[in-house]
Amino acid sequence: MKKKILVANRGEIALRLIRAIQELGHTAVAVYETPDNEALHIRTADEAVWLGDGPRSDYLNIDKVIQAAKKTGACAIHPGYGFLAENPDFAKACEDNGIIFIGPPSNVIQALGDKVTARKIMQEAGIPLVPGTPSLAPGEAGLAEAVEFCNTHGYPVMLKATAGGGGRGIRRIDDEKQLKAEIPVARAEAKAAFANDAVFLEKLVENPKHIEVQVIADKEGTTVHLGSRDCSIQRRNQKLIEIAPSLIPDQALVDKICETAVQAAKAAKYFNAGTVEFLVDKNYNFYFMEINTRVQVEHTVTEMVTGIDIVRTQIKLALGKKLAFAQDDVQIRGYAIEVRINAEDPQNNFMPEGGKTVSVYRSPGGYGVRLDGFAYQGYTIPEVYDSLLVKLTVHGFSWNETVDRLRRCLNNFVIVGPKTTIPFYLRVIDDPDFKGGDFNTSFLDTHDYLLEYEDFTSEGNKLAHLIAEIHYRQQNPYAV
Ligand code: ADP
Ligand code: ADP
Ligand code: MG
Repeated sequence: MKKKILVANRGEIALRLIRAIQELGHTAVAVYETPDNEALHIRTADEAVWLGDGPRSDYLNIDKVIQAAKKTGACAIHPGYGFLAENPDFAKACEDNGIIFIGPPSNVIQALGDKVTARKIMQEAGIPLVPGTPSLAPGEAGLAEAVEFCNTHGYPVMLKATAGGGGRGIRRIDDEKQLKAEIPVARAEAKAAFANDAVFLEKLVENPKHIEVQVIADKEGTTVHLGSRDCSIQRRNQKLIEIAPSLIPDQALVDKICETAVQAAKAAKYFNAGTVEFLVDKNYNFYFMEINTRVQVEHTVTEMVTGIDIVRTQIKLALGKKLAFAQDDVQIRGYAIEVRINAEDPQNNFMPEGGKTVSVYRSPGGYGVRLDGFAYQGYTIPEVYDSLLVKLTVHGFSWNETVDRLRRCLNNFVIVGPKTTIPFYLRVIDDPDFKGGDFNTSFLDTHDYLLEYEDFTSEGNKLAHLIAEIHYRQQNPYAV
């Protein structure tokens, strides 16, 4: 039966969700704030509801989103990632209003959203963890706990916000002086960012790989994994390039990590799609880090190598269907790489380029190429949201073929207006360590020379600039 599903998000992920809803034959309802007046997700959806002027505050307004669903008669809400996606109060509000939340139940989001509670669940289930503390007590008592932990386990440690996410609220601590100085600062930051000042410590894993596993579970508790991803290429603890499957050569180890992820999901009574994140050290020991209770930005690489539409599956499971495939049906074919093309200037500390107009936009195509974006020629990037412009995901038979395809696509891209991360990615993928699969979360710090490149002005780009100028000025600047 045709159903109405509300998409509580914006940008590329809103489009991704709308496409899946429409492919299933359902009706997609978009919501938007005033700065998104010109956004593509409004035009692509079947209906759109204006929430307010925002910015961000209305996408984050639980009551307004619930009211939009009620007003339009939507029976379900997909939250995407970010905004309300991991807010247990939002999932609870859906439950209380008889609206299906496309994700796990609110109590699961609540438990896993607290990194310390999640660690406790995993510890009881026998999942490997790095040593860590509970949330530190307030004031002097907490400082004493922290000092004792570090005296026992040694420096360096990671100081983390218990309610943290998106790479924020994480800092490396190398000695006691720094520990004492940073705890109050971290608390204040966590309070401002997550409305919760709890912090805790974890032993720091030196130069780890970030390996994560896509899991998916139906309401009967049948849980399968869709293989691994390597998300080690990060800046400021935030992912830039993601790869599926991981390049760890020891297949038995990768299988073990994937099986542990399923065990972790089961221990958390997980339902719907989620991601179990691990750190892998240089001796190939692996440790649970956290579970993200939503669709990830990088779900596309897993879709490319498994052929499974994760969002379609999420919706069907939330509407009450059982998993249509078993673990043995999931086959990993080839490799996929996603690059997050951000409107940022990598050479200026990745400063966002919001507010600029995309005067030319030409994207690559061809075999094994997937684009999840929302920019178009003439689109002005709102300054008030994140800087992700388009995700380029390529699929290939072998690792080398996939990197070659990515290079070709990055070279084919023409974006005139904002600076982007494209020229930087072109440098990264030709780095011998990247090509050799020899990288960890320190890659950017140890390869900062990759940021030293000539401003990217291929002949194609020069021509595109000229065409854009003619188009906008309605005259040829070179005509006499
Ligand atoms: P978030 O919720 O912000 O994603 P995570 O706990 O997943 O936070 O950590 C984000 C990133 O921070 C990881 O991918 C990794 O690069 C780094 N990190 C987190 N914990 C540790 C640790 N104990 N040792 C080393 N690096 C860590
Ligand atoms: P559909 O909506 O096409 O009926 P299902 O509910 O059967 O799909 O499954 C959801 C997703 O899982 C789809 O992307 C589909 O391609 C994938 N899928 C279904 N069956 C299998 C299978 N036996 N092996 C691998 N993937 C499958
Ligand atoms: Mg994380």
